[in-house]
Formats: sequence, C-alpha cells, structure tokens
Amino acid sequence: MSEPLFRRLCLIGAGLIGSSIAQLARERGDIAETIVAHTRKPETLARIRELGFADVVEEDAARAVAGADCVILCVPVGAYAGVMAQIAPHLSLGCILTDVGSTKGSVIRDLAPLLPPGVHLVPAHPMAGTEHSGPDAGFATLFEGRYVILTPLPGGDRAAQERVAELWRRAGSTVESMDAATHDKVVAIVSHLPHLIAFTICGTADDLAEETREAVLKFAASGFRDFTRIAASDIDMWRDIFLNNRDALLEMLARFTEDSHALARAVRWGEADFIEDRIRRGRRIRRGLIERKQA
Ligand code: NAP
Repeated sequence: MSEPLFRRLCLIGAGLIGSSIAQLARERGDIAETIVAHTRKPETLARIRELGFADVVEEDAARAVAGADCVILCVPVGAYAGVMAQIAPHLSLGCILTDVGSTKGSVIRDLAPLLPPGVHLVPAHPMAGTEHSGPDAGFATLFEGRYVILTPLPGGDRAAQERVAELWRRAGSTVESMDAATHDKVVAIVSHLPHLIAFTICGTADDLAEETREAVLKFAASGFRDFTRIAASDIDMWRDIFLNNRDALLEMLARFTEDSHALARAVRWGEADFIEDRIRRGRRIRRGLIERKQA
C-alpha cells in the first residue's frame, strides 16, 4: 500500500459527499492517517459518531481544522463564506484547502480573499452524486469511474494541485482541469438547468386540477418519473447552487427557452422534419454518453 497522502484530513460537512470521502479514506487506508469530521447540527454530529467513519468528530470548526494538512469543504456553497470566516485563522501553514462544491466562481470569490499566506487553495468538483443527502447516504465507491474537475487558481501551488488530483485518482475518478468560468458554464447546462427544469415540471404537474394530478402520479412511468428523481434533491444545496451560479444558469435558460420556442413553433406549424431532427439529436447524445460509459 502507498504512503497515506495526508497526515490529518479534515472534512467540514459530512453529508453525502463528505461521508463518502471519509468512508473511502477509511476503506483504502492510503489517503489519511487521521480523519476528522466537523458538522453543524448536534444530531448530525451524533449520527457521524454512530456511523464511525471518522477518527475524530469535532463540534468546533476552528478546532477541527487545527493541525490538518488537508481540509475539504463539503457544505452547501452558500455556507462557504461563513465557514471560511470561522476556520481561516486556524488553518496551518502549508495546509491544502480544497472543496467539492458544485459552483466554482462563487467558491473562489468566497474563499480566496480570506486565504492565509502559505495555505494552498485547490477548488474541486466531483461530478458524482445521488438525490440523497446526509451522512447515511454516503458510500465509498461514489466517485469510481466519475470525473472530478479541478479549477486551480492562476499561479497556484502545483504540488498542492497534484496531491488533490492524486486523492481523486485514489477514489477511482478521472481528473480534469479547467478555469472556474468554463466549469460554471458546463455544469449550468449538464446539471443546473436539468434540475431547474425538473423542479419546474413537478411544480407544473402539482398545479394541475385535482383529478389530473392524481392521474399524473398514477401514470408517471412514462417520463415524468425520471424528472421526479432529479427533483427529489436537497433543498439547501440546490437553492445555493442556483443563487451562486446565477449568470451561467440564466444564460443557459435563455438559450433553452429560445430553442423550446422553436420546437413549439414546429409543432404548431406541423413541421415534421424539424421535430424529427430534434429527436435525432437527442438520441445521438444519449448514444454518445453510453459509448463514454457515462450513462
Ligand atoms: P448534504 O448531504 O446535504 O451534506 C451537507 C453537510 O454540510 C451536512 O453535513 C451538513 O451538516 C453540513 N452543513 C450545512 N451547512 C453547514 C454550515 N453552515 N456549517 C457547517 N456544516 C454545514 O450535501 P452534499 O450532497 O454532501 O453536498 C455537499 C457539497 O457537495 C455541496 O457544496 C454540493 O454542491 C456539492 N456536491 C453535491 C453533489 C450531490 O449530488 N449531492 C455532487 C457534487 C458536489 P448539518 O446536518 O450539521 O447541517
């Protein structure tokens, strides 16, 4: 077994993503010598103790990060500024500060100004998840075969970036790097817009008259059901993502709205070729995902 990457790994937040990292580190043994977990609510702290995936469960964020050579923020992105204000003065010299947040421009905006000298910030986003949340939802294989995107800061420490990349490679992920603005546009189309559509379509179905709504639930298997899975996601996390990737999300939504109007027009005017072309493109994209084993 290779040497552990970190001596003391501290997870701030231990829900789906944080607890999956902790379980992975526990199982492999070559990620961290000691796993520290901090979270906010007493009941979540108690549950983490019961689940036993951390060596140290710490209720105080400042004490949790003290002495850690790697700190991973695993909280909703709207909580970053507050958490950073608490932990920044207590980060050790040489510590790597990384994260798993679904938006990257906002993360850099909220963390970089408070970064102490000698602490290396390496923003990261594992493109893996489920619609479940909380410490019970985590599992060690969550990141296997998935992409992790790093959005390093210009002039950032290369050795720190390499260690974060190695952490994710040990999780079974493929690591890619890009700038934060590109990342935020990509995830706006592949993840944030689909969630916005899923929340909206469920709202539209819920607005229908009583007897129609009943029938929608009864016959949901024909497509609507797939939207409800996405729409079952965590409230805090998705509120924060929408508010912290506003520009990219609104840009993608505007493009989507234009395109859906074009399709609606083709339906209205009976333009079968246009409709067929749209369906063909959808099928081609699905085939592409299957070929890349991302389906
Ligand atoms: P989660 O299961 O809801 O867990 C969130 C954790 O953060 C909980 O331990 C919660 O603890 C803690 N927390 C919330 N606010 C906090 C605060 N102000 N201070 C300290 N702890 C706080 O969420 P998750 O799915 O793991 O998501 C975590 C991060 O990963 C988010 O930034 C999300 O954007 C990103 N992400 C999620 C997915 C996904 O599919 N779920 C995929 C990729 C990336 P308490 O119970 O104590 O509040």
